[in-house]
Amino acid sequence: MALTLDALRAAAPAALLPGLCVVCRDWCRRSLCEPCLQRFAPQKSRCAGCARVMPQPVARCGECTRQASAFACCIAGTDYTAPWDRLITGFKFHQKAELAVALSELVLRALERTPARKVVFASTMDVYAAEDRVHRETDQPAPVNAYGLSKLLGETLLAYATRTNDRLSGVALRFANAFGPGETNPHLIPDALARMRDRSQPEIRMGYLGATRDFIHVADIADAAVAALFQDTGRFEVFNVASSIPTPVRHVVDTLRRLVGDPRPIVEDQKQFRKFDRPSLSADTDKLRSTLGWAPKWSLEDGLRDLVERTAGEARSA
Ligand SMILES: [Zn+2]
Ligand SMILES: [Zn+2]
Repeated sequence: MALTLDALRAAAPAALLPGLCVVCRDWCRRSLCEPCLQRFAPQKSRCAGCARVMPQPVARCGECTRQASAFACCIAGTDYTAPWDRLITGFKFHQKAELAVALSELVLRALERTPARKVVFASTMDVYAAEDRVHRETDQPAPVNAYGLSKLLGETLLAYATRTNDRLSGVALRFANAFGPGETNPHLIPDALARMRDRSQPEIRMGYLGATRDFIHVADIADAAVAALFQDTGRFEVFNVASSIPTPVRHVVDTLRRLVGDPRPIVEDQKQFRKFDRPSLSADTDKLRSTLGWAPKWSLEDGLRDLVERTAGEARSA
């Protein structure tokens, strides 16, 4: 068998090949050198509930006791200080996907010091090729954007960690287009709702509406994460989390307009067209349904109605 670079990387993604430390740019075996880890990510005593730095390790700090955390446990790879803040900005906003390896290693290193047994990794459908067909977990991943690539690297690192750490098992959940309360990014649905609140124009101007997406409610995603965490899934598995219903973006905006009761026409504005990677997104969820007994409880219509009611409630109490 010919020993190709790809084969070598697949066999030992982080241990064999030398590279440059992402902090000091010196040669090292991993993406972070030991002196930089010692200097910039020293081990610290933390609160197990929120990961705040404490004089000694505690199960619950004063703050966690006063206000119950949404998390049973919190693990921090490092504090959000230099040089990590600069690297995270580069990773999130400047297409530096290669930093996913170093940043994931920080978290995996922190995991080695905790009694954690299982990691559920939030991945994405963007790991799949931009092909107009239903995606299954057995498809060869072929991301076409830095986000998908960084998530695929994260999946690979988690799989590697479960192979090299006997105590650890892992699940990667590949999410379709999440929607529901608490959205912090200006994605399609919050954007459309904001435009419908603004009645200063005679029409609702939107970007490209011709794409097809798979919308899955955050509550169904949370159900899948809980099922993946508490059920036995072996050492490492990957699951799609999706509605499996390909939905035209135009249909979503139309439904929102009907639920809001906005009589204005929807106009596709070419000036608002953004570069996008895939014409359609649809995923098969047979594996998740048959292995974990999961099924989505929220239809798109019910989820959108709930969002519109919440938005109206927030507007009234504002
Ligand atoms: Zn270094
Ligand atoms: Zn705490």
